Amino acid sequence: MRKPFVAGNWKMNKTGEDARTLVSQLIPELQAASQIDSALCPPFPYLMAVANMLSGTGIQLGAQNMYWEESGAYTGEVSPKMVAEFCQCVILGHSERRAYFGETDETVNKKVKAAFAAGLTPIVCVGETLEENEANRTEEVVVRQVKEGLKGLSVEQAMTLVVAYEPVWAIGTGRAATAEGANAVLADYIRPALQSMYGPEVAQAVRIQYGGSVNAKNAAEFFAQPDIDGALVGGASLKSADFAAIAKAAAARVK
Ligand code: PEP
Repeated sequence: MRKPFVAGNWKMNKTGEDARTLVSQLIPELQAASQIDSALCPPFPYLMAVANMLSGTGIQLGAQNMYWEESGAYTGEVSPKMVAEFCQCVILGHSERRAYFGETDETVNKKVKAAFAAGLTPIVCVGETLEENEANRTEEVVVRQVKEGLKGLSVEQAMTLVVAYEPVWAIGTGRAATAEGANAVLADYIRPALQSMYGPEVAQAVRIQYGGSVNAKNAAEFFAQPDIDGALVGGASLKSADFAAIAKAAAARVK
């Protein structure tokens, strides 16, 4: 069975002090959910402080983005090696990055390869917009994002990938996908796309999270689905009680 993985994407929120408070509240809660992997993904300026707090806890630290080049004249960017100094994982291709910062399947692919080269686990986001969903283009969009964003990896790398299916219309809207609907996208589109690229073993090994308005109340429904291996959580990861409840719901699936 794939080990559930719950990650909190704080986006551009929290002060340094808020960050320390949230992390100190979450450490005991997430340590209690030891059946699952969990990760916190704060903004870049807080990574060092949060890394120190999480050291030795078993809780992972993730960045929300990175650039693919190793170093050089890229003002404002952060390299894979810089991220890997503090983090174990990195969110790549989030729909907000695709929508506001021009990320494409091609740049996501460069970042995925660079993340692996730096020893980071990429959490690669895919998902259709409302318009695409309403035009019945979910399969086409998600399969393209998987095939283009994840091409050219070794089987060993592909095996350890984390994919987050995040329908754009469900992110931050309070309008989550149905658990069955999300599971169907994973089972019918994403795993078969992975299988066509890397074979059945990889397709079954890759952990796929659902993301989009997951909260303390609806999390268990998602985790009851056979293909959903955890969640990428935005808004609800900013409140310790909510994120702890989501982690607990994921841990209950393992018992
Ligand atoms: C996200 O930021 O990836 C996300 C899923 O946000 P929310 O949980 O707020 O919908």
